[in-house]
Amino acid sequence: MMTNAEFIEKERARLLNDMEQVNAELKNLRDLMQSEVDIEPDEGDAEVFEREKNAALIAVLERRLKDIETALRLIEKGEYGICTRCGKPIEPERLEIKPDATLCIECQREVERLNRRNRPQRQIEW
Ligand SMILES: [Zn+2]
Repeated sequence: MMTNAEFIEKERARLLNDMEQVNAELKNLRDLMQSEVDIEPDEGDAEVFEREKNAALIAVLERRLKDIETALRLIEKGEYGICTRCGKPIEPERLEIKPDATLCIECQREVERLNRRNRPQRQIEW
C-alpha cells in the first residue's frame, strides 16, 4: 500500500513525463503546420483536411497541457487530488487513468452534461 506522499510523487513524475511528450508533439505539429503554409496555393482537399485535423489536434494538446500544468500547480499547493469544483477527493482510480484530472467523476459528468447542452458533439473525456 502506497502512502499519499508516494502516490503524489508518482503522479508528479507521470505529469512531468506527459508534459514533455505533449510539448514534443505540439512542436512537431506546429513545425508541420509551418512547413505546409509554404506549399503551393492549389492544394487539394486532402491537404486542407490534413491541416484542419492537425489544427484540431493542436487545440486538444494545448488543452491537455493546461490541465497538466494545473495539476502540477495543485501538487505544489498541496491540493492535488481534490476536486476543484466540489472539494471532495478525486477517485484514485480516476487519477490513475487521468493524472491531470481536476474534477471528481461526478463533477466531470455534470460539466460534460452542461457542455453537451451547449456543444452537442463534445466528447466525454474518460
Ligand atoms: Zn467534484
